[in-house]
Amino acid sequence: MSHELDNFVCRCCGFCCSFSGYVLLAEGEDEKIAAFLNLDIYQFIEQYTEVVISRQQLTLTEQANGRCIFLQDDNLCRIQAVKPIQCTSFPYEWRDKNVEKHCAGFAALRATQE
Ligand code: SF4
Ligand code: SF4
Repeated sequence: MSHELDNFVCRCCGFCCSFSGYVLLAEGEDEKIAAFLNLDIYQFIEQYTEVVISRQQLTLTEQANGRCIFLQDDNLCRIQAVKPIQCTSFPYEWRDKNVEKHCAGFAALRATQE
C-alpha cells in the first residue's frame, strides 16, 4: 500500500533542528548519546541537557539562537548515529505545519506531486 511519505527524503536542510523547543530524551537515550560522545552520563547531562518544565524528562539544550545544541554549522547532526527517537520519527510519527512548510524534503515531495 502506498503512503504519502513513501517518497519523502530528508534533504538535510536542518530546519527541523533549528528552532527553540524540546528535543526530549526517551529512556536510555542519555546513556547512548553520552557513550557516543565518550562522556560519562553525569558530564553529558550537565553539559547537554536540561530538565523539562514537568520535571519528568530531559531535553537537549539549545544554542543561543534556538538551534539544537548538536546541530552543526553545516546543518548536519553531530550525533546522527544516536539521535533521539523524537528526531528520527519526523515526519513519520509526528508532523508540524510550520516545519512542513519550511522542510526541504517536503518541498521536494510537493514538487513531484505538481
Ligand atoms: S539531536 Fe540532531 S537531529 Fe535531533 S534536533 Fe538535535 S541536531 Fe537535530
Ligand atoms: S526540515 Fe526536513 S529536510 Fe530539513 S533536516 Fe528536517 S526532515 Fe530533513
